[in-house]
Amino acid sequence: MDMVEHQIAARGIRDPRVLEAMRRVPRHAFVPPDVQNLAYEDHPLPIGHGQTISQPYIVALMTELAEVGPGSRVLEIGTGSGYQAAVLAEIGAEVYSIEIIPELGERAREVLRRLGYDRVQVRIGDGSVGWPEEAPFDAIIVTAAPVHIPEPLREQLKVGGRLVIPVGSIMQELRVVVREADGWRERAVIPVRFVPMTGRARESAE
Ligand code: SAM
Repeated sequence: MDMVEHQIAARGIRDPRVLEAMRRVPRHAFVPPDVQNLAYEDHPLPIGHGQTISQPYIVALMTELAEVGPGSRVLEIGTGSGYQAAVLAEIGAEVYSIEIIPELGERAREVLRRLGYDRVQVRIGDGSVGWPEEAPFDAIIVTAAPVHIPEPLREQLKVGGRLVIPVGSIMQELRVVVREADGWRERAVIPVRFVPMTGRARESAE
């Protein structure tokens, strides 16, 4: 309750579905035991394998920007701990989440199953190619930063769908891409710092 009031609502997140979902998801269940006492603090935390669970405010902001509601079909790239996926599922979305590090994907799948988030499907693989069999999506949330937006992610949006993605290498910005009937409209929201997207997105940037 305190996290939502002081870190999220206080910074301007207004969508009641996002606020309520973040009050309900037990963030401590998604982090390793040695940092559980820090689970509701205002920063990212290590989850092993050099990866992190994002700061609560960033999870809230990305969820709000994605404009997700009950029944939305949402693709997430970078399952990590599974926390962002749980927040989306708590809103009532059908979530398809891809994680490239098998140990993290398997752990997240297990935590999500244990907590009853059966609207989340976790795939182990390279998310830069999206999930073509389940496309198109109402929203795509990417939680690792590519240098350029992978083309398959734009293509897997519905018309009217929204892609929320950090883009860049050292300097990154959070962008929202909206698919329109005749193309894509894009805007930058705030500077951010995410772990880099690996896999094909990384290779094509080098
Ligand atoms: N959304 C996560 C959460 O709620 O805990 C935070 C994820 S962490 C900031 C980014 C994750 O993206 C890492 O677990 C990393 O392994 C994963 N990742 C990086 N590149 C990827 C790719 N090409 N495909 C899928 N996952 C990727």
